[in-house]
Amino acid sequence: MRKIDIFDTTLRDGEQSAGINLNTAEKIEIAKQLERLGVTIIEAGFPASSPGDFDAVNRIAKTVKNSIVTGLARCVQKDIDATWEAIKVAEQPHIHVFLATSPIHMEYKLKKSPEQVVEQAVEAVKYAKKLFPLVQWSAEDGFRSDRDFLVKIIGEVIAAGATTINVPDTVGYASPQEYGALFKYLRENVRGADQVKFSAHCHDDLGMATANSIAAVENGADQVECTINGIGERAGNASLEEIGVALHIRKDIYPFETGLNLKEIKRTSQLVSRLTGVVIQPNKAIVGRNAFAHESGIHQDGVLKNPETYEIISPALIGEDEVPLVLGKHSGRAAFRDRAVKMGYDLSDEKLNKAFAEFKKLADRKKEITEDDLVTLLTEQQVLIEDVPLYELKSVQVQYGTENIPTATAVVATPAGDIATAASTGAGSVEAIFNTLEQLVGGTVNILDYRVTSVGKGRDALGEAVINLRYNGYTTTGRDAAQDVLEASAKAYLNAINRQLIQASIRAQQPTV
Ligand SMILES: [Zn+2]
Repeated sequence: MRKIDIFDTTLRDGEQSAGINLNTAEKIEIAKQLERLGVTIIEAGFPASSPGDFDAVNRIAKTVKNSIVTGLARCVQKDIDATWEAIKVAEQPHIHVFLATSPIHMEYKLKKSPEQVVEQAVEAVKYAKKLFPLVQWSAEDGFRSDRDFLVKIIGEVIAAGATTINVPDTVGYASPQEYGALFKYLRENVRGADQVKFSAHCHDDLGMATANSIAAVENGADQVECTINGIGERAGNASLEEIGVALHIRKDIYPFETGLNLKEIKRTSQLVSRLTGVVIQPNKAIVGRNAFAHESGIHQDGVLKNPETYEIISPALIGEDEVPLVLGKHSGRAAFRDRAVKMGYDLSDEKLNKAFAEFKKLADRKKEITEDDLVTLLTEQQVLIEDVPLYELKSVQVQYGTENIPTATAVVATPAGDIATAASTGAGSVEAIFNTLEQLVGGTVNILDYRVTSVGKGRDALGEAVINLRYNGYTTTGRDAAQDVLEASAKAYLNAINRQLIQASIRAQQPTV
Protein backbone atom coordinates (compact mmCIF):
# COMPACT_ATOMS: atom_id res chain seq x y z
CA MET A 1 0.00 0.00 0.00
CA ARG A 2 1.16 3.53 -0.79
CA LYS A 3 2.15 5.54 2.30
CA ILE A 4 0.49 8.94 2.58
CA ASP A 5 2.29 11.33 4.95
CA ILE A 6 0.07 13.37 7.23
CA PHE A 7 1.47 16.89 7.67
CA ASP A 8 -0.34 18.55 10.56
CA THR A 9 -0.44 22.34 10.60
CA THR A 10 -2.77 22.88 13.57
CA LEU A 11 -0.03 24.84 15.35
CA ARG A 12 0.75 27.07 12.34
CA ASP A 13 -2.16 27.51 9.90
CA GLY A 14 -4.64 26.56 12.64
CA GLU A 15 -3.15 28.80 15.30
CA GLN A 16 -3.08 31.64 12.79
CA SER A 17 -6.90 31.80 12.66
CA ALA A 18 -9.00 34.48 14.32
CA GLY A 19 -9.23 34.51 18.11
CA ILE A 20 -6.71 31.72 18.78
CA ASN A 21 -3.57 32.28 20.80
CA LEU A 22 -1.85 29.35 22.43
CA ASN A 23 1.00 29.73 24.87
CA THR A 24 4.15 27.62 24.60
CA ALA A 25 3.09 25.06 27.21
CA GLU A 26 -0.18 24.52 25.38
CA LYS A 27 1.55 24.16 22.01
CA ILE A 28 3.89 21.53 23.46
CA GLU A 29 0.91 19.64 24.87
CA ILE A 30 -0.77 19.61 21.45
CA ALA A 31 2.48 18.58 19.72
CA LYS A 32 2.91 15.64 22.11
CA GLN A 33 -0.63 14.52 21.39
CA LEU A 34 -0.07 14.83 17.61
CA GLU A 35 2.98 12.60 18.03
CA ARG A 36 0.81 10.05 19.86
CA LEU A 37 -1.70 10.30 17.01
CA GLY A 38 1.09 9.30 14.63
CA VAL A 39 1.28 12.28 12.28
CA THR A 40 4.37 12.22 10.02
CA ILE A 41 5.17 15.92 10.22
CA ILE A 42 4.20 18.61 12.74
CA GLU A 43 4.38 22.19 11.51
CA ALA A 44 5.06 23.86 14.86
CA GLY A 45 4.96 27.53 13.86
CA PHE A 46 6.65 30.38 12.00
CA PRO A 47 9.91 30.97 13.93
CA ALA A 48 10.80 34.32 12.34
CA SER A 49 7.37 35.83 13.05
CA SER A 50 7.83 36.41 16.81
CA PRO A 51 10.05 35.41 19.75
CA GLY A 52 7.12 33.47 21.20
CA ASP A 53 6.75 31.42 18.00
CA PHE A 54 10.51 30.84 17.87
CA ASP A 55 10.53 29.56 21.44
CA ALA A 56 7.55 27.24 20.89
CA VAL A 57 9.00 25.72 17.69
CA ASN A 58 12.37 25.24 19.38
CA ARG A 59 10.88 23.51 22.41
CA ILE A 60 8.68 21.28 20.27
CA ALA A 61 11.71 20.30 18.14
CA LYS A 62 13.47 19.28 21.37
CA THR A 63 10.48 17.38 22.76
CA VAL A 64 9.00 15.46 19.81
CA LYS A 65 10.92 12.40 18.62
CA ASN A 66 8.60 10.25 16.50
CA SER A 67 7.27 12.94 14.17
CA ILE A 68 9.32 15.28 11.99
CA VAL A 69 9.09 18.90 13.22
CA THR A 70 9.05 21.76 10.72
CA GLY A 71 8.75 25.55 10.74
CA LEU A 72 7.48 27.97 8.12
CA ALA A 73 9.77 30.54 6.47
CA ARG A 74 9.48 33.11 3.72
CA CYS A 75 12.03 32.84 0.91
CA VAL A 76 14.46 35.16 2.70
CA GLN A 77 17.70 34.37 4.50
CA LYS A 78 16.76 35.75 7.89
CA ASP A 79 13.63 33.56 8.03
CA ILE A 80 15.62 30.49 7.01
CA ASP A 81 18.32 31.28 9.60
CA ALA A 82 15.75 31.74 12.39
CA THR A 83 14.08 28.46 11.43
CA TRP A 84 17.43 26.67 11.47
CA GLU A 85 18.22 28.06 14.94
CA ALA A 86 14.84 26.81 16.17
CA ILE A 87 14.89 23.40 14.47
CA LYS A 88 18.53 22.27 14.27
CA VAL A 89 18.11 20.25 17.50
CA ALA A 90 15.50 18.02 15.82
CA GLU A 91 16.39 14.51 14.69
CA GLN A 92 15.44 15.27 11.08
CA PRO A 93 15.50 19.05 10.55
CA HIS A 94 12.80 20.07 8.05
CA ILE A 95 11.94 23.54 6.74
CA HIS A 96 8.89 24.77 4.87
CA VAL A 97 9.69 27.76 2.61
CA PHE A 98 6.99 29.40 0.53
CA LEU A 99 6.61 31.99 -2.21
CA ALA A 100 3.50 33.06 -4.11
CA THR A 101 3.25 32.05 -7.78
CA SER A 102 -0.20 33.20 -8.94
CA PRO A 103 -0.36 36.24 -11.27
CA ILE A 104 -2.41 38.26 -8.78
CA HIS A 105 -0.06 37.53 -5.85
CA MET A 106 3.11 38.16 -7.88
CA GLU A 107 1.85 41.44 -9.32
CA TYR A 108 0.07 43.01 -6.34
CA LYS A 109 1.57 41.41 -3.24
CA LEU A 110 5.17 40.68 -4.23
CA LYS A 111 5.43 43.34 -6.99
CA LYS A 112 7.82 41.00 -8.81
CA SER A 113 8.05 39.57 -12.30
CA PRO A 114 7.70 35.78 -12.75
CA GLU A 115 11.45 35.60 -13.51
CA GLN A 116 12.30 37.38 -10.25
CA VAL A 117 10.03 34.98 -8.37
CA VAL A 118 11.81 31.95 -9.87
CA GLU A 119 15.16 33.45 -8.93
CA GLN A 120 14.15 34.18 -5.35
CA ALA A 121 12.66 30.69 -4.88
CA VAL A 122 15.74 28.97 -6.27
CA GLU A 123 18.11 31.04 -4.13
CA ALA A 124 16.12 30.38 -0.97
CA VAL A 125 15.91 26.64 -1.58
CA LYS A 126 19.66 26.44 -2.31
CA TYR A 127 20.41 28.36 0.89
CA ALA A 128 17.99 26.22 2.95
CA LYS A 129 19.44 23.02 1.51
CA LYS A 130 22.88 23.90 2.89
CA LEU A 131 21.37 23.66 6.38
CA PHE A 132 18.40 21.29 6.18
CA PRO A 133 18.32 17.73 4.80
CA LEU A 134 14.57 18.14 4.21
CA VAL A 135 13.35 21.20 2.32
CA GLN A 136 9.71 21.66 1.42
CA TRP A 137 8.88 24.44 -1.01
CA SER A 138 5.32 25.77 -1.39
CA ALA A 139 3.88 27.64 -4.35
CA GLU A 140 1.54 29.93 -2.41
CA ASP A 141 -1.82 30.26 -4.21
CA GLY A 142 -0.53 27.40 -6.40
CA PHE A 143 -3.96 26.39 -7.64
CA ARG A 144 -4.61 29.82 -9.21
CA SER A 145 -1.15 29.90 -10.81
CA ASP A 146 -0.40 29.41 -14.49
CA ARG A 147 0.24 25.69 -15.06
CA ASP A 148 3.22 26.10 -17.34
CA PHE A 149 4.78 28.61 -14.96
CA LEU A 150 4.30 26.06 -12.16
CA VAL A 151 6.00 23.37 -14.26
CA LYS A 152 8.94 25.72 -14.83
CA ILE A 153 9.40 27.01 -11.27
CA ILE A 154 8.89 23.61 -9.63
CA GLY A 155 11.45 22.03 -11.98
CA GLU A 156 14.00 24.68 -11.00
CA VAL A 157 13.25 24.40 -7.29
CA ILE A 158 13.71 20.61 -7.46
CA ALA A 159 17.04 21.11 -9.21
CA ALA A 160 17.99 23.52 -6.39
CA GLY A 161 17.45 20.76 -3.83
CA ALA A 162 13.81 20.77 -2.66
CA THR A 163 12.64 17.39 -1.35
CA THR A 164 8.90 18.13 -1.13
CA ILE A 165 6.73 20.29 -3.38
CA ASN A 166 3.51 21.63 -1.92
CA VAL A 167 0.85 23.01 -4.28
CA PRO A 168 -1.75 24.64 -2.03
CA ASP A 169 -5.24 25.79 -2.81
CA THR A 170 -4.59 28.77 -0.55
CA VAL A 171 -7.97 30.43 -1.12
CA GLY A 172 -10.16 27.30 -1.18
CA TYR A 173 -11.30 27.76 -4.80
CA ALA A 174 -10.60 24.37 -6.41
CA SER A 175 -13.00 21.54 -7.21
CA PRO A 176 -11.85 17.94 -6.67
CA GLN A 177 -11.63 17.23 -10.44
CA GLU A 178 -9.52 20.32 -11.11
CA TYR A 179 -7.23 19.89 -8.13
CA GLY A 180 -6.64 16.22 -8.92
CA ALA A 181 -5.95 17.05 -12.58
CA LEU A 182 -3.38 19.66 -11.55
CA PHE A 183 -1.37 17.06 -9.59
CA LYS A 184 -1.55 14.63 -12.51
CA TYR A 185 -0.31 17.35 -14.89
CA LEU A 186 2.57 18.36 -12.61
CA ARG A 187 3.60 14.75 -11.98
CA GLU A 188 3.71 14.15 -15.74
CA ASN A 189 5.36 17.39 -16.83
CA VAL A 190 7.72 18.68 -14.12
CA ARG A 191 11.38 17.83 -14.63
CA GLY A 192 12.56 15.71 -11.68
CA ALA A 193 9.00 15.11 -10.42
CA ASP A 194 9.86 11.48 -9.60
CA GLN A 195 12.61 12.57 -7.18
CA VAL A 196 10.32 14.51 -4.82
CA LYS A 197 7.19 14.13 -2.77
CA PHE A 198 4.15 16.17 -3.83
CA SER A 199 1.91 17.65 -1.14
CA ALA A 200 -1.69 18.92 -1.05
CA HIS A 201 -2.82 21.81 1.15
CA CYS A 202 -6.51 22.71 0.96
CA HIS A 203 -8.80 25.27 2.53
CA ASP A 204 -12.49 24.71 3.11
CA ASP A 205 -14.05 27.92 1.74
CA LEU A 206 -16.37 25.92 -0.52
CA GLY A 207 -16.60 22.91 1.80
CA MET A 208 -14.39 20.83 -0.52
CA ALA A 209 -11.10 20.69 1.40
CA THR A 210 -11.29 16.99 2.30
CA ALA A 211 -12.53 15.96 -1.16
CA ASN A 212 -9.81 18.04 -2.83
CA SER A 213 -7.08 16.56 -0.62
CA ILE A 214 -8.16 13.01 -1.46
CA ALA A 215 -8.41 13.87 -5.17
CA ALA A 216 -4.77 15.03 -5.00
CA VAL A 217 -3.74 11.78 -3.31
CA GLU A 218 -5.48 9.77 -6.04
CA ASN A 219 -3.45 11.76 -8.58
CA GLY A 220 0.00 11.39 -7.11
CA ALA A 221 0.26 13.50 -3.95
CA ASP A 222 2.03 11.54 -1.20
CA GLN A 223 1.43 14.10 1.54
CA VAL A 224 -1.66 15.96 2.77
CA GLU A 225 -1.60 19.02 4.99
CA CYS A 226 -4.42 19.36 7.46
CA THR A 227 -5.46 20.49 10.93
CA ILE A 228 -7.30 18.97 13.87
CA ASN A 229 -11.02 19.85 13.77
CA GLY A 230 -10.31 21.64 10.48
CA ILE A 231 -9.36 24.88 12.25
CA GLY A 232 -7.48 27.46 10.19
CA GLU A 233 -7.68 30.71 8.25
CA ARG A 234 -11.24 31.75 7.29
CA ALA A 235 -13.34 28.57 6.76
CA GLY A 236 -10.40 26.48 7.93
CA ASN A 237 -8.06 23.83 6.54
CA ALA A 238 -8.81 20.28 5.47
CA SER A 239 -9.61 18.37 8.64
CA LEU A 240 -7.16 15.65 9.65
CA GLU A 241 -9.76 13.40 11.22
CA GLU A 242 -11.98 13.45 8.11
CA ILE A 243 -9.09 12.53 5.81
CA GLY A 244 -7.70 9.87 8.16
CA VAL A 245 -11.03 8.17 8.77
CA ALA A 246 -12.25 8.47 5.14
CA LEU A 247 -9.09 6.75 3.86
CA HIS A 248 -9.53 4.04 6.49
CA ILE A 249 -13.27 3.38 6.08
CA ARG A 250 -13.09 3.42 2.28
CA LYS A 251 -9.85 1.50 1.90
CA ASP A 252 -11.71 -0.58 -0.68
CA ILE A 253 -11.32 2.40 -3.06
CA TYR A 254 -8.41 4.23 -1.36
CA PRO A 255 -5.59 1.71 -0.94
CA PHE A 256 -3.39 4.03 1.14
CA GLU A 257 -1.75 3.83 4.54
CA THR A 258 -1.38 6.95 6.74
CA GLY A 259 0.26 5.49 9.84
CA LEU A 260 -2.28 7.36 12.01
CA ASN A 261 -3.34 5.82 15.30
CA LEU A 262 -7.05 6.53 14.79
CA LYS A 263 -7.88 5.67 18.42
CA GLU A 264 -6.21 8.95 19.45
CA ILE A 265 -8.50 11.09 17.28
CA LYS A 266 -11.18 11.84 19.85
CA ARG A 267 -8.69 12.85 22.49
CA THR A 268 -6.66 15.01 20.09
CA SER A 269 -9.80 16.72 18.88
CA GLN A 270 -10.97 17.48 22.44
CA LEU A 271 -7.56 18.73 23.52
CA VAL A 272 -7.30 21.13 20.58
CA SER A 273 -10.85 22.37 21.12
CA ARG A 274 -10.25 22.92 24.84
CA LEU A 275 -6.91 24.70 24.49
CA THR A 276 -7.87 26.88 21.51
CA GLY A 277 -11.35 27.64 22.82
CA VAL A 278 -12.77 26.78 19.37
CA VAL A 279 -15.94 24.76 19.85
CA ILE A 280 -16.57 21.77 17.58
CA GLN A 281 -19.87 22.06 15.72
CA PRO A 282 -22.17 19.27 17.00
CA ASN A 283 -22.73 17.76 13.52
CA LYS A 284 -19.04 17.90 12.54
CA ALA A 285 -18.05 14.69 10.70
CA ILE A 286 -16.14 12.20 12.88
CA VAL A 287 -15.64 14.34 15.99
CA GLY A 288 -18.91 16.28 16.47
CA ARG A 289 -20.94 15.50 19.59
CA ASN A 290 -23.75 14.14 17.39
CA ALA A 291 -21.57 12.32 14.85
CA PHE A 292 -22.70 8.97 16.24
CA ALA A 293 -26.11 9.94 17.65
CA HIS A 294 -29.19 8.35 16.10
CA GLU A 295 -32.33 10.42 16.69
CA SER A 296 -35.07 8.94 14.56
CA GLY A 297 -36.97 5.95 15.93
CA ILE A 298 -36.47 3.88 12.80
CA HIS A 299 -32.70 4.47 12.92
CA GLN A 300 -32.47 3.71 16.65
CA ASP A 301 -34.41 0.49 16.17
CA GLY A 302 -32.12 -0.55 13.30
CA VAL A 303 -28.94 0.20 15.21
CA LEU A 304 -30.13 -1.80 18.22
CA LYS A 305 -30.74 -4.83 15.95
CA ASN A 306 -27.44 -4.39 14.07
CA PRO A 307 -25.23 -1.27 14.39
CA GLU A 308 -24.21 -1.55 10.73
CA THR A 309 -27.74 -0.73 9.55
CA TYR A 310 -27.00 2.99 9.99
CA GLU A 311 -23.46 3.18 11.35
CA ILE A 312 -20.53 3.16 8.92
CA ILE A 313 -18.00 4.14 11.60
CA SER A 314 -17.90 2.62 15.05
CA PRO A 315 -17.26 5.19 17.81
CA ALA A 316 -14.54 2.87 19.17
CA LEU A 317 -12.49 3.39 15.99
CA ILE A 318 -11.66 6.96 17.02
CA GLY A 319 -11.29 6.09 20.71
CA GLU A 320 -14.73 7.11 21.86
CA ASP A 321 -15.45 3.90 23.78
CA GLU A 322 -16.31 4.43 27.44
CA VAL A 323 -13.28 3.77 29.59
CA PRO A 324 -14.28 1.78 32.67
CA LEU A 325 -14.31 4.04 35.70
CA VAL A 326 -11.69 3.02 38.21
CA LEU A 327 -11.37 6.21 40.17
CA GLY A 328 -13.73 7.49 42.82
CA LYS A 329 -13.91 9.23 46.16
CA HIS A 330 -11.75 6.60 47.86
CA SER A 331 -9.02 6.33 45.26
CA GLY A 332 -5.55 7.09 46.55
CA ARG A 333 -2.74 9.17 45.15
CA ALA A 334 -0.92 6.15 43.68
CA ALA A 335 -3.98 5.04 41.71
CA PHE A 336 -4.50 8.60 40.53
CA ARG A 337 -0.88 8.91 39.39
CA ASP A 338 -1.09 5.51 37.69
CA ARG A 339 -4.15 6.59 35.74
CA ALA A 340 -2.55 9.91 34.76
CA VAL A 341 0.50 8.07 33.41
CA LYS A 342 -1.72 5.63 31.47
CA MET A 343 -3.50 8.60 29.93
CA GLY A 344 -0.14 9.92 28.74
CA TYR A 345 0.44 12.72 31.29
CA ASP A 346 3.89 13.35 32.64
CA LEU A 347 3.48 15.71 35.61
CA SER A 348 5.96 16.85 38.23
CA ASP A 349 5.19 15.72 41.81
CA GLU A 350 4.04 19.21 42.67
CA LYS A 351 1.63 19.43 39.74
CA LEU A 352 0.40 15.92 40.38
CA ASN A 353 -0.34 16.82 44.00
CA LYS A 354 -2.30 19.87 42.91
CA ALA A 355 -4.27 17.84 40.37
CA PHE A 356 -4.94 15.19 43.03
CA ALA A 357 -6.21 17.82 45.47
CA GLU A 358 -8.57 19.14 42.76
CA PHE A 359 -9.68 15.58 42.04
CA LYS A 360 -10.52 14.97 45.73
CA LYS A 361 -12.52 18.19 45.89
CA LEU A 362 -14.43 17.18 42.80
CA ALA A 363 -15.02 13.62 44.01
CA ASP A 364 -16.68 15.02 47.13
CA ARG A 365 -19.19 16.93 45.04
CA LYS A 366 -19.69 14.73 42.00
CA LYS A 367 -20.84 11.11 41.94
CA GLU A 368 -18.91 9.88 38.93
CA ILE A 369 -15.53 11.15 37.79
CA THR A 370 -15.35 10.63 34.04
CA GLU A 371 -12.34 10.40 31.75
CA ASP A 372 -13.34 13.86 30.42
CA ASP A 373 -13.13 15.30 33.94
CA LEU A 374 -9.67 13.82 34.43
CA VAL A 375 -8.46 15.19 31.10
CA THR A 376 -9.74 18.63 32.17
CA LEU A 377 -8.03 18.47 35.59
CA LEU A 378 -4.73 17.09 34.33
CA THR A 379 -4.47 19.36 31.30
CA GLU A 380 -5.07 22.42 33.50
CA GLN A 381 -2.06 21.45 35.62
CA GLN A 382 0.08 20.42 32.68
CA VAL A 383 -0.17 23.78 30.93
CA LEU A 384 0.23 25.83 34.12
CA ILE A 385 3.33 27.98 34.17
CA GLU A 386 4.39 28.34 37.79
CA ASP A 387 7.16 30.88 37.98
CA VAL A 388 5.17 33.96 36.93
CA PRO A 389 3.18 35.71 39.70
CA LEU A 390 -0.49 35.64 38.69
CA TYR A 391 -3.98 36.51 39.88
CA GLU A 392 -5.74 33.82 41.84
CA LEU A 393 -9.42 33.73 42.76
CA LYS A 394 -9.78 33.23 46.49
CA SER A 395 -13.57 33.46 46.65
CA VAL A 396 -16.55 34.80 44.79
CA GLN A 397 -20.04 35.40 46.09
CA VAL A 398 -23.09 36.49 44.13
CA GLN A 399 -26.37 37.84 45.46
CA TYR A 400 -29.04 37.09 42.90
CA GLY A 401 -32.83 37.22 42.96
CA THR A 402 -35.34 37.83 40.19
CA GLU A 403 -36.42 41.07 41.96
CA ASN A 404 -32.94 42.31 43.00
CA ILE A 405 -29.97 43.90 41.31
CA PRO A 406 -27.29 41.16 41.11
CA THR A 407 -24.25 41.99 43.24
CA ALA A 408 -20.90 40.17 43.24
CA THR A 409 -18.11 40.25 45.80
CA ALA A 410 -14.75 38.76 44.93
CA VAL A 411 -11.50 38.21 46.82
CA VAL A 412 -8.40 37.84 44.68
CA ALA A 413 -4.69 37.25 45.38
CA THR A 414 -2.78 39.69 43.16
CA PRO A 415 0.57 39.18 41.38
CA ALA A 416 2.04 41.74 43.81
CA GLY A 417 1.24 39.35 46.68
CA ASP A 418 -1.70 41.29 48.16
CA ILE A 419 -5.22 40.15 48.85
CA ALA A 420 -7.74 42.49 47.21
CA THR A 421 -11.51 42.64 47.63
CA ALA A 422 -14.13 44.42 45.53
CA ALA A 423 -17.87 44.41 44.94
CA SER A 424 -19.99 45.53 42.03
CA THR A 425 -23.42 45.20 40.49
CA GLY A 426 -24.44 44.16 37.00
CA ALA A 427 -27.49 43.44 34.87
CA GLY A 428 -26.92 39.73 35.54
CA SER A 429 -24.79 37.56 37.84
CA VAL A 430 -22.04 37.06 35.27
CA GLU A 431 -21.83 40.74 34.45
CA ALA A 432 -21.66 41.56 38.16
CA ILE A 433 -18.71 39.17 38.50
CA PHE A 434 -16.96 40.59 35.45
CA ASN A 435 -17.46 44.18 36.67
CA THR A 436 -16.01 43.24 40.05
CA LEU A 437 -12.97 41.53 38.54
CA GLU A 438 -12.38 44.48 36.21
CA GLN A 439 -11.98 46.71 39.29
CA LEU A 440 -9.54 44.23 40.80
CA VAL A 441 -7.26 43.87 37.77
CA GLY A 442 -7.37 47.60 36.91
CA GLY A 443 -7.59 48.96 33.37
CA THR A 444 -10.33 48.45 30.82
CA VAL A 445 -11.47 44.99 29.88
CA ASN A 446 -13.65 44.37 26.81
CA ILE A 447 -15.42 41.04 26.64
CA LEU A 448 -15.35 39.84 23.03
CA ASP A 449 -16.84 36.39 23.46
CA TYR A 450 -18.10 34.30 26.37
CA ARG A 451 -19.42 30.72 26.43
CA VAL A 452 -20.33 28.13 29.00
CA THR A 453 -20.53 24.44 28.16
CA SER A 454 -20.70 21.24 30.18
CA VAL A 455 -17.86 18.75 30.32
CA GLY A 456 -19.46 15.34 29.83
CA LYS A 457 -23.03 14.46 30.64
CA GLY A 458 -25.37 14.57 33.61
CA ARG A 459 -26.74 17.29 35.87
CA ASP A 460 -23.61 17.28 38.06
CA ALA A 461 -21.26 17.68 35.07
CA LEU A 462 -18.43 20.20 35.35
CA GLY A 463 -19.17 23.58 33.77
CA GLU A 464 -16.48 25.00 31.53
CA ALA A 465 -16.32 28.71 30.75
CA VAL A 466 -14.37 30.14 27.82
CA ILE A 467 -13.85 33.87 27.61
CA ASN A 468 -12.17 35.96 24.95
CA LEU A 469 -11.27 39.44 26.15
CA ARG A 470 -9.24 42.50 25.33
CA TYR A 471 -7.07 44.01 28.08
CA ASN A 472 -4.16 46.46 27.82
CA GLY A 473 -4.34 46.31 24.03
CA TYR A 474 -3.95 42.52 23.85
CA THR A 475 -6.56 39.85 23.14
CA THR A 476 -6.48 36.53 24.95
CA THR A 477 -8.73 33.57 25.52
CA GLY A 478 -9.08 32.19 29.04
CA ARG A 479 -10.90 29.15 30.27
CA ASP A 480 -11.55 27.16 33.39
CA ALA A 481 -13.83 24.47 34.63
CA ALA A 482 -15.62 24.23 37.97
CA GLN A 483 -18.67 22.58 39.46
CA ASP A 484 -20.49 25.90 39.28
CA VAL A 485 -20.62 27.97 36.09
CA LEU A 486 -20.28 31.27 38.00
CA GLU A 487 -17.06 30.12 39.62
CA ALA A 488 -15.84 28.75 36.26
CA SER A 489 -16.63 32.12 34.65
CA ALA A 490 -14.70 34.09 37.29
CA LYS A 491 -11.70 31.76 36.97
CA ALA A 492 -11.80 31.86 33.16
CA TYR A 493 -11.76 35.67 33.32
CA LEU A 494 -8.66 35.68 35.53
CA ASN A 495 -7.10 32.95 33.36
CA ALA A 496 -7.37 35.24 30.32
CA ILE A 497 -5.72 38.10 32.27
CA ASN A 498 -3.01 35.72 33.59
CA ARG A 499 -2.21 34.53 30.09
CA GLN A 500 -1.30 38.10 29.23
CA LEU A 501 1.06 38.24 32.21
CA ILE A 502 2.67 34.96 31.07
CA GLN A 503 3.00 36.17 27.46
CA ALA A 504 4.52 39.43 28.70
CA SER A 505 7.12 37.54 30.74
CA ILE A 506 8.00 35.32 27.73
CA ARG A 507 8.35 38.45 25.59
CA ALA A 508 10.64 39.99 28.18
CA GLN A 509 12.91 36.92 28.49
CA GLN A 510 13.24 36.11 24.82
CA PRO A 511 16.09 37.45 22.71
CA THR A 512 14.77 38.91 19.45
CA VAL A 513 15.41 36.95 16.28
ZN1 LIG B 1 -3.11 27.46 4.43
